[in-house]
Parts: sequence; C-alpha cells; structure tokens
Amino acid sequence: MNPIIIVGSGLAGYSLLRELKNRTCPAPITLITADGGESYYKPKLSTVQSQQKSALKMVMASASKMAQDHHAEIITHTRVVSLDTPNHQLTLDNGEIRPYHQLVLATGASPTRLNPPGDGAKDVLSINNLADYVVFEQKLADAKRVAVIGPGLIGMEFANDLLHTNRSVTVIGPNPWPISTLIPQPIGEAVQKAMSAQGATWHLGCASGAIDKQDSGYRIALENDTVVEADLVLSAVGIRADLQLAVQSGLKTNRGILTDSYLQTSAPDVYALGDCAEVDGRNLPFVQPLLIGARALAATLTGHPQAVHYPPMPVAIKTSLHPIIILPPHTKEGRWVFTGSPDTGMVGRFLTEADKLAGFVLSGNQTAEKNKLMDEYHP
Ligand SMILES: Cc1cc2nc3c(=O)[nH]c(=O)nc-3n(C[C@H](O)[C@H](O)[C@H](O)COP(=O)(O)OP(=O)(O)OC[C@H]3O[C@@H](n4cnc5c(N)ncnc54)[C@H](O)[C@@H]3O)c2cc1C
Repeated sequence: MNPIIIVGSGLAGYSLLRELKNRTCPAPITLITADGGESYYKPKLSTVQSQQKSALKMVMASASKMAQDHHAEIITHTRVVSLDTPNHQLTLDNGEIRPYHQLVLATGASPTRLNPPGDGAKDVLSINNLADYVVFEQKLADAKRVAVIGPGLIGMEFANDLLHTNRSVTVIGPNPWPISTLIPQPIGEAVQKAMSAQGATWHLGCASGAIDKQDSGYRIALENDTVVEADLVLSAVGIRADLQLAVQSGLKTNRGILTDSYLQTSAPDVYALGDCAEVDGRNLPFVQPLLIGARALAATLTGHPQAVHYPPMPVAIKTSLHPIIILPPHTKEGRWVFTGSPDTGMVGRFLTEADKLAGFVLSGNQTAEKNKLMDEYHP
C-alpha cells in the first residue's frame, strides 16, 4: 500500500502524526519537510528571552527521534515542488517522484514582507520558525536597540519579550493602538501603558518607510518625517498561507487551501491542515484549530470520516506585562462594556442589544476570569 504522505513538520504535521499513532493506521506514513524536522512548540518563540532560554533549547525532539517514536519515515531538508493529483504522486526538489495513498498538506504560512526602499531593507528579520529565531538570536547578541515594525499580536509578543532584556524597544506601525485589529482600544492602551512603564517607545498611527544602513545599525524613516534608529529591525506585519504549491497543482485556494469540514481539498485524497488551510471559509492560524483538525483528520484517514467542529476558541496573547485573552465577538451588532482598571486588569464584554454576551476580552489580573466568561457565553 502506498503511504499517507504528510508535507510539513510544524505543529500541524506533527500533531497529525501523533494522532495517527494513537489509531491503527493500515498505511505506512511518510512525512516530508523543507526544514530540519525538529519538533518544537512555535508559540514559545515569543517568550524565549523572558524564559531565559535559547532557540535550540526549544527543540523537544529531533526528526530522527520523531521518526522512531512514531514508526514513520521522515525526510528532512526536502521540498515538495509539485503534485500530480490525478496520478496520486508528488515530486521532490531532488527530482524524486513519490506515490501516495492519501496526502496531507500542512505547509503553514510565511511572513508578509514589507519590501521598503533603502539599503538596510534586506537585513530586516521576521520570525515564523525555529531557523528564523536562530538567526534573530545571533543578531540580537550585538543589538542594544530593537525596532519592531507591526504592533499586531506577534509583534507585541516579541516587543514584550524583548523588554525583559536590557534593550530599548521601539514599536512602529500604522495601527492607532496595539493589536487594534483584534482588541478594543481601552485594552490596547492598557497593554501599551504596561509596556511603556517597562521602557517601550511607540510610533503608532504612522507607517514606516525607507530603511537605510548607518554606521552602527539602521535608520528607519517614518511617514511623519521622524527617524528611528535601531541596531536590529524585526518585522511582524502578518503572515499569509503559502499557496504556491497548491495553486500550481490546481487546488482551489482563497486565503488558504480551500477544504470542506473534513479537511478535504478540491482534489481527491488530498487534505490540508493548519495555517495553510481554509476550512469551510475560515483560515485560523492558531494552535487550537489545528489540534482539533488533526484529531478529526486522523479518524478520517483511518476510515472513520469525522468532520471538524470548532468550539468557541479564546486566544491568549502572551504580553506578560499585561496579558490578554480574547474571544472575538461573533457579531458586529453590539457594544463593548468595560469594567476594571487599565493598571491592574480589565473585563470587556461585547453585548448584543438583548444584553447577551457575544464575545469578551480580559486583561491583566482579570485573565483569571476566563472560565466564568466562557460560562456566560452562549452564542
Ligand atoms: C511567535 C509566534 C507565537 C505564536 N503564538 C501563538 C499562541 O500563543 N497561540 C496560538 O494558538 N498560536 C500561536 N501562534 C501561531 C501558531 O504557532 C501556528 O498557528 C502554528 O504553529 C502553525 O503550524 P503549521 O504546522 O500549520 O505551520 P508551520 O509551523 O509554518 O509549518 C509548516 C511546515 O511546512 C513545511 N513546508 C512548507 N512548504 C513545504 C514544501 N513545499 N515542502 C516540504 N515542506 C514544506 C515547513 O518546512 C514547515 O515544517 C504563534 C506563531 C508565532 C510565529
């Protein structure tokens, strides 16, 4: 029997491998990955400094240990370059052709690049995997001033983490307050205040422009004619599912690879899971959806078709100086009602006209109220 082939060794690929091991899987399993195949927990990359760790300490198991523990073949440093879905086979970057019985694309997402003008632009770093963090860590060793472009969820987590080191941290971006696409203004301002107290400086409501090298470090020109100087520039302006392989192979895509609720793509026996997938119209680049998906997909691949059902999934934002938990409102019709203090912690309830809880945000010491708010939430 041809194998089940999983492409990608991120949390999606490896979670599926674990789930398949928990079931009786008649087909052999092969996992192919473009990286080194180390098993690590990606969300911890934005807490490495405050945990006083290093990138390599994040590795929980090598690819060979994963292969041994899961009775799977794992092929590392190898990219899948094309799919021939009618013939159930794929081609690797070394020219080898591999047949599959069922194929799972768990190819993740890539950071969005700003591509600003200036001779320093190519030195701007972004972090979306362990290898990126290794490079960042090396450059950070010589950096006293770090500029973070992008005050979104990931940018704020990295800024928060860097504030635990003795470095000056400047956050830049057009957003009016931190994480403004996800959290309401009073909570964004509470985080900003807590991080300012730790030394963060801000250029919000203002996009960055050219990035040029100077004697030591870089000059970042802002659109309001201010200049920020930094030794290291980190860009965190979002991620986008990498769709090249899927598009070339004729799979239907939108923000991600389109799947139904069984994670089945538009081609027979081809599935998608994790950051690369758009499941029933939702591309959710978080851990909980991929864990739920991996469990259901393992059942499906072993002959017990199981659709994915997502429960309400609150997102924890690891800004430890003022942590946040948000369950985004499921409707736009309603109003935010806040209690608590921006200094210690706040509760924001999003209430419908009928005063029903349609979403919430908790910050600081009020994050402990999560279970209570989840009990109140009945969409
Ligand atoms: C700093 C940071 C903090 C985060 N914090 C949180 C958090 O607190 N909570 C939360 O829920 N989520 C968080 N996330 C998001 C979460 O980590 C991701 O949703 C999840 O790790 C995505 O896993 P994935 O396996 O889908 O993708 P990836 O981890 O991107 O893995 C993709 C894999 O595919 C391989 N690959 C890609 N293309 C090919 C190809 N053509 N051939 C072979 N291999 C290929 C890659 O090498 C890689 O192994 C965070 C993300 C970051 C960056």
